[in-house]
Amino acid sequence: MKRRQFVGMAIALSAGLPFRGFASVLTPVSDLPAKSLSGADLLLRGSSVEALGSNLAGELLLPGHENYEQARHIWNGMFDKRPALIARCTGASDVIQAVNFAREHQLLTAVRAGGHSFSGKSTCSGGIMIDLEPMTGVRVDPTARRAFLETGSRLHQLDRETQAFGLATTAGTVSDTGAAGLTLGGGLGRLGRRFGLSCDNVVGADVVTAAGTLVHASESENADLLWGLRGGGGNFGVVTSLEYRLHPVDPMVLAGDVVWPVEQARDVLRYLVDFGETMPDELGLEAALVWTPEGKPLVSVEACWSADHAAGEKVLAPLRRLGKPLSDTIAPMSYVAIQSHDDAGLPAGRNYYAKNGFLPRLDEAGIDLILAAFLEAPTKFIAFLAPYGGAYGRVPVEATAFPNRNEKHFVLMISQWTDGEGDRHLADLRGSWKRIDPLTRGFYTNLSDPDTSSATIQQNYGRNFARLSALKAKFDPMNLFRLNANVPPRA
Ligand SMILES: Cc1cc2nc3c(=O)[nH]c(=O)nc-3n(C[C@H](O)[C@H](O)[C@H](O)COP(=O)(O)OP(=O)(O)OC[C@H]3O[C@@H](n4cnc5c(N)ncnc54)[C@H](O)[C@@H]3O)c2cc1C
Repeated sequence: MKRRQFVGMAIALSAGLPFRGFASVLTPVSDLPAKSLSGADLLLRGSSVEALGSNLAGELLLPGHENYEQARHIWNGMFDKRPALIARCTGASDVIQAVNFAREHQLLTAVRAGGHSFSGKSTCSGGIMIDLEPMTGVRVDPTARRAFLETGSRLHQLDRETQAFGLATTAGTVSDTGAAGLTLGGGLGRLGRRFGLSCDNVVGADVVTAAGTLVHASESENADLLWGLRGGGGNFGVVTSLEYRLHPVDPMVLAGDVVWPVEQARDVLRYLVDFGETMPDELGLEAALVWTPEGKPLVSVEACWSADHAAGEKVLAPLRRLGKPLSDTIAPMSYVAIQSHDDAGLPAGRNYYAKNGFLPRLDEAGIDLILAAFLEAPTKFIAFLAPYGGAYGRVPVEATAFPNRNEKHFVLMISQWTDGEGDRHLADLRGSWKRIDPLTRGFYTNLSDPDTSSATIQQNYGRNFARLSALKAKFDPMNLFRLNANVPPRA
């Protein structure tokens, strides 16, 4: 931030007015109340804040700045937090400045890329938000089949740029999600059974460590760090760029939804579970239990077949003939289009709470339990059930930090609301999940809820936890990056 911008802010803040632009009078920035890493109150000297602002190429936003309100919000409206500072980074050098400032002041630190954290960890009250949103761009090397992504980029940017060359890698199912957060914590998507997790396809990364040093991670350089970045989330530093391995994927896929009345849900889910055991890797399937606006329950299965269409028609025929569907939209469509097909259902700004788990098996009784939890819930939620396996499970558990490889299905329940009754929605979804939880073995940290304890996270990382904890001690011994699925540094 430029000095004159600070000045305007300081005057506006001291007068209790929102800051709306530059002023011409030079005044120092006032001292700023903030929160330390441990949650204690601290006061940031105005002169240090001013120095940080002068050292950034991007904006440094303080409360009262006209861009502060928009920048502080993340996708999940449940987290209405107010950082003391938002560093809108434009590149690695800004990230280094922000990390150094945070470390030197022992300041509570949140890292935001696409802002789609379910658990609200990419923002904080009273700390610094290191905001990578301005750092967007994807460069593709079609010959080497590589994509180089700046970590403020969204999934639609990754898909669009790679598909221009008939290439793709696994990305999530809602196109506005940040590529960085999704990839570092794993990355499940329509191509996942074919190409593995998004993080399995990461071959290089630039990372600003807690010491404020930019390091590169690849198989030949800091290979231990690359291992940790493949599923260990934001624990080891701020990742400023990611290099992905790409695969040939025809821009036209066979995709769409088949929808049935909920009375047929048992048969549909049983079919999905059985077929999931043997279906080809080129197929991504996901069932959803949803409520129409009129309050009618439905079951749907979304398919995405990413290989030869004639073969796909055959593979999908039994699903499409099942029972009496209300509609069937499966048809050739662009991969980029199916990748934004779910966007409207989960818009930014609403309040969201989710529970998820991987299932080692799912029998008839389990299917009935999921259906009963959905239909009998006191407040409505959406449930997803997807076959897992394929390439996800062909990577040995110890080969990357990501721990959940050997399960057969993935289940996710999402409650969303705009009324002021958050406590009720949370309690009801927790109650419904209690019925499903015994079926699960492990969970996906990228979709974990804010109450997940560190003991539960440690347990979920299983035999990879000790290695992660040692890596944390190497790259972030003070646990500066703790607003995440946190791995404390080994003592
Ligand atoms: C609508 C929606 C749909 C989703 N669909 C899928 C899906 O299909 N598949 C799937 O796998 N997941 C999915 N997710 C979960 C998603 O993977 C996580 O929410 C992920 O954290 C989002 O990344 P982000 O960059 O947008 O999040 P942010 O909120 O910006 O970041 C989340 C966390 O990631 C870490 N982080 C982010 N960027 C960096 C960085 N550059 N360096 C270091 N740490 C960083 C930080 O700890 C941060 O708290 C979905 C989430 C939403 C909200």
